[in-house]
Amino acid sequence: MKALYFENDPIRYALYRAARLVHPFPRLGPLSPVRYAEVPEPALPGPQWLKVRNIACGLCGTDVHFMQMDMSPKSYSTALPGIKRKYLGHECVGEVVEAGLEVEGFRVGDRVAMPMDWPCCAQMGIEPPCRQCAAGSPMLCENLGLGTVPAPIGGVSSSHTGSAGIPAGSFGMFNAVGGGFSPRMAVHRSQLFKVPAALGNDAATLLEPMACAAHGVLKAADHLVPGARVLIIGGGTIGLLAAAACKALAPGVGVFASVRYPFQAKVAEALGARVLSGDGNIYARSARATNGRHIKGMFGNEIILGGFDVVLDTIGGEASFEQSLRLARPHGRVVLLGINFSPGRLDYSPIWAREIEVTGINCHCIENDGRSTFEIAAEVLEKTPELPGLIITHRFAMDEYRQALRAFMNKRESGAIKIVMGHGK
Ligand SMILES: [Zn+2]
Ligand SMILES: [Zn+2]
Repeated sequence: MKALYFENDPIRYALYRAARLVHPFPRLGPLSPVRYAEVPEPALPGPQWLKVRNIACGLCGTDVHFMQMDMSPKSYSTALPGIKRKYLGHECVGEVVEAGLEVEGFRVGDRVAMPMDWPCCAQMGIEPPCRQCAAGSPMLCENLGLGTVPAPIGGVSSSHTGSAGIPAGSFGMFNAVGGGFSPRMAVHRSQLFKVPAALGNDAATLLEPMACAAHGVLKAADHLVPGARVLIIGGGTIGLLAAAACKALAPGVGVFASVRYPFQAKVAEALGARVLSGDGNIYARSARATNGRHIKGMFGNEIILGGFDVVLDTIGGEASFEQSLRLARPHGRVVLLGINFSPGRLDYSPIWAREIEVTGINCHCIENDGRSTFEIAAEVLEKTPELPGLIITHRFAMDEYRQALRAFMNKRESGAIKIVMGHGK
């Protein structure tokens, strides 16, 4: 079968980065770190594993970071052990086609999504699990890179050193065998979520990004009392889904959005957010929206006194993050939802000068009420049935992934919000 994956190899990395200086989408063939290539059909590695036939999968900014090699070798996350090869695609909906003997809670024919595409204690069979896994935050697993995932039944060497050329020993480092951009994948029972019947396949592809957005919103739950004001920076999928999550999970909160393009503003407004627009820059507009004071210092140094109770930075760049710190009120909370693999430079003085609380999210987990963020995401999607129609703007077949990437990179022209890749039969 043909799958889209990313090979973590310093030589390919260097080649690709160099080629990107002259072309935004260099084709390096077999030397490219990102490959759409023939891989062996996955076998079940053990009795707690299932095989899933994927139906569709959303293209996420994180996938694009991998595809474009936008990762600094100096970033904390680049040093995390355990990723030799990453099968791309995690915003997927599929159907269980095979279930191991020790799988409970899933049957052949179930529609599933994948909350977990990272090796954690459960997949590596580590007992007892680390304290993060035990507490329901497997994305924060402290045993990354320590264990190995069991070898597939039928022998690792034949199925895992084929055309893809993977050394058998590194199999243990895989997130799953296959990902959402593979026609079929083998996943551990801990990685799946059963899609409620009320959600169609389009809504199901939004479960994972919605769970990220909802997790970010819930990180500020104690600040989101009626009358509070939240600013969402960024009008991409996560920003817009965060607006919907705020409306559903924190009614009575004023939701404001700072977005780049008019097509994003339209959707933000349709979801009940007030788009900060009109005269002046973001500081002037934020001051007006929060009854704060806009102060202009020297050399274009602008701040506001007052500000938002909560700022959700769904871009995660150094400019947006610096802005978030400056737009939060004293004791306000800034939640970093955007992913960035490049260390930046920023003025972090608001953290002490205004005692701003800063936190971030790595996907989703078990929330404080004991439910998984996926269950909460499903509830938000059920409450907001118009979401797929507003958010999914483009569809491509898997082998058109370069076109999808182009639409993602040129949002101004394409008007892309969520791009969904479909698997044929
Ligand atoms: Zn994603
Ligand atoms: Zn763990």
